Amino acid sequence: MYHCDFPGCDYETELRSQIVDHHIIPRSKGGSDKDSNLFRCCPSHHSHIFIPGMEHGIHSKYSEYSIVIDNMLLSTGGYVLEYHYVNTDETLYSSITSRQFITSKK
Ligand SMILES: [Zn+2]
Ligand SMILES: [Zn+2]
Repeated sequence: MYHCDFPGCDYETELRSQIVDHHIIPRSKGGSDKDSNLFRCCPSHHSHIFIPGMEHGIHSKYSEYSIVIDNMLLSTGGYVLEYHYVNTDETLYSSITSRQFITSKK
């Protein structure tokens, strides 16, 4: 089963193709394809990610539900996601523990 990395999301699927590899630092700004730059999420959460300063595409638009990913830090047993909603200044932290499928990636 593949899961969405977004905290609290219970989306799961048997199809890897249903999970979106979102680049935290966009490729157009030099972001890599490494796991440490990839936030794997369901199509719904992907559509809510807003990247400030992005001029084109899905992440250039925002609504009151938009999520800004500030950082994803490697931590023991997974990653810690640092993010905030576009309508608040509060930064939220959450562990990503659902990434077991990464280790099986060839
Ligand atoms: Zn994306
Ligand atoms: Zn999700």
